[in-house]
Amino acid sequence: MIEEVNGMPYPNESYKSCMACSMKEGRLFIEDVPIDKIADAYGTPFYVYSSRAISECFNAYKEALKDIPHIISFAVKANSNLSVLSLLRRVGSGADIVSGGELFRALKAGIKPSKIVYSGVGKTASEIEYALKENILMFNVESFGELKEIARIAKEMGKVASIAMRVNPDVDPKTHPYISTGLSENKFGLSIEDAIEAYKMALSDDALKIVGISCHIGSQLTDISPFIEAFKRLFILIKRIEAIKGIRIRYIDLGGGLGVRYKDEEPPTAFEYVSKIKEALRANNSSITSAFPYTLIFEPGRSICANAGLLVTRALYVKENKGKRFLVVDAAMNDLARPSLYKAYHEIVPVAYRDSSIRYKYDIVGPICETGDFFARARLMREVHPDELLAIMSAGAYGFSMSSNYNSRPRCAEIMVNGDDFKLIRKQETYEDLIKGEFLIYD
Ligand SMILES: *Cc1c(COP(=O)(O)O)cnc(C)c1O
Repeated sequence: MIEEVNGMPYPNESYKSCMACSMKEGRLFIEDVPIDKIADAYGTPFYVYSSRAISECFNAYKEALKDIPHIISFAVKANSNLSVLSLLRRVGSGADIVSGGELFRALKAGIKPSKIVYSGVGKTASEIEYALKENILMFNVESFGELKEIARIAKEMGKVASIAMRVNPDVDPKTHPYISTGLSENKFGLSIEDAIEAYKMALSDDALKIVGISCHIGSQLTDISPFIEAFKRLFILIKRIEAIKGIRIRYIDLGGGLGVRYKDEEPPTAFEYVSKIKEALRANNSSITSAFPYTLIFEPGRSICANAGLLVTRALYVKENKGKRFLVVDAAMNDLARPSLYKAYHEIVPVAYRDSSIRYKYDIVGPICETGDFFARARLMREVHPDELLAIMSAGAYGFSMSSNYNSRPRCAEIMVNGDDFKLIRKQETYEDLIKGEFLIYD
């Protein structure tokens, strides 16, 4: 028996987590473009982003920070498409990078090295060299070993490396364990005591220049209090460090992590978030009077682009198995990994609106040969037929950037919408792309 649920509220409104979506005349739109029109032009699956929504999210941070020196360095790992990065560069963004590849992309997109910060626990020698050569703003250093390695390479190159210690404040961000980074048991950053030690070491090294301090405690935080708790510890630490003769902290990098609405979360706005931080900073640092002595750096990723993008997929088959109804679609976990990786929730909306009071419970799954290949389980929806388009909402961050070629599936296209215009910003891969770089050694 397949369960049919009557009288359930239809999540007609579930497209509303997308900042640029609307339902007009029974069709889902992003800005002024009907989703089905893009599907006709480029096939499925594809990611589509709203340039307006991305700019708006960025500008919300900019507006909140306008009265103090700041740099907003978009976390490239959230969405690393060149057009997304160059759109953000145009509105003033820098970049938070975690690899040489991301540095390459940020530079290609025209982002100024003076707005690029480099985080991550495993920077290799060649990556450090590349970043030094390009004169990035600073390295967020995560270990003693890395500090020594940066100093060694800088010396070799006859350069001085600008550094900040990434501090692990040991605060529970109360988010998914896989995206929590600020607990002492996580691999990220230096403990407060180790950070002080590292600053002292750096002070005595001519190849290193101390310019800042940084902290990033996790992702998808929907409550301000763990941030404030972490930043208070950071601000107290700053006072201790500044008491060491010869050290001046110029950049306070507060990382990213602000959450977004996927289902019913109510995260603070960028404005509320920044206001609370400014308050806490003033309360914990008496040297802050009228002239703000620091430049604050923020590294938002998800909160800039998650709700500016969708993954659009087409239903292939409906099948029933032991009382379960499966909707097999043409996108899969290789396109969007978040549901299988974190059991993340994404709203899924049929692109065509149909008035119907009957709800079916669907497991929405992809074609990949893994049980973990699903987008939703036991999701209530109106009846969906093969060939219908579905939009997976809130997919603009950690969507395409986490995609892979698993099951030898070419990665899908990405499209940018601006008003009633839409442009291809990455074409769907071909089969030839799949084997690029491989060698046939047995013929
Ligand atoms: C991932 C990451 C970010 C971005 O996090 P969001 O939750 O997407 O805002 C910022 N800084 C660092 C160091 C990161 O690792």
